[in-house]
Amino acid sequence: MKFGAHMSSSGGAWKALQRGISIGCDIIQIFVKNNMQWFGKPCPPDQLALYANELSAQKLAAVFGHTGYLINLGAPACENRDKSVKSLIQEIGFATDLGLPFLVMHPGAHLGRGEEAGLKQIIAGLNEVSRATKASPVRIALENTAGQGTCLGNDLRHLAAIYEGVNHPERLAVCLDTCHLFAAGYDIRSRKGWDAAIAEIDSLVGLEQIVAFHLNDSKTDLGSRIDRHAHIGQGKIGKQAFRHVVNDPRFRDAPGCLETPKSADLHEDIQNLKILRSLRNG
Ligand code: ZN
Ligand code: MN
Ligand code: MN
Repeated sequence: MKFGAHMSSSGGAWKALQRGISIGCDIIQIFVKNNMQWFGKPCPPDQLALYANELSAQKLAAVFGHTGYLINLGAPACENRDKSVKSLIQEIGFATDLGLPFLVMHPGAHLGRGEEAGLKQIIAGLNEVSRATKASPVRIALENTAGQGTCLGNDLRHLAAIYEGVNHPERLAVCLDTCHLFAAGYDIRSRKGWDAAIAEIDSLVGLEQIVAFHLNDSKTDLGSRIDRHAHIGQGKIGKQAFRHVVNDPRFRDAPGCLETPKSADLHEDIQNLKILRSLRNG
């Protein structure tokens, strides 16, 4: 795997690249706008030029996006559901401007209406979004979740149901989060458990759909369905498990992105990257 971390885009997306490069990231995940707001402003041309310069000057293996936290395609029809669709369409536009290959997105929460109703809304929302962004090559990488509250995506079969339901599955991809897998009940601490989870996603949508991993340890127990990221080796998954994760030959070139707590000087990211690299064979 190629390692990196989610980087703040404060001051512009090009700043995120600088930050990531300064701590030795080979891959970087960013938000394409403020992640706690519905809508943002497009990146002005001078900022896009700075971004392109930064990108071409460095040897990053991948840069990709993560959608904002307000977006919930799984909600029943309501103002926020409409805003979710519009917000996602805008984000795909911004990601297209930056040349990002995909945006990682949590499938959504059904808010009490049940799994089936929630999945139906997600599929309808994605269809609307694909229709409105036909010209964009940006894919939506569905992320598996911890299944907190009414969030869908804790069961990998939810992702398969979305693939089966949408009109344009070629616009989709998958991002697997280690913390979320564990909190959802997939015991990836053993190689056997990891292989079983990967075999499941392979049989459901195909391994080639996996475009990224989120490498996070978990503060909460197996099957807790609570989403709390811990530093690598300081959670309930444990350092040894990341050995079979980062050395899985099927994902030699896949991006593995940290989403662990950090302070302004990024020393936690530096430490986590060091641990991940120390676990890699050869
Ligand atoms: Zn996420
Ligand atoms: Mn994640
Ligand atoms: Mn999480």
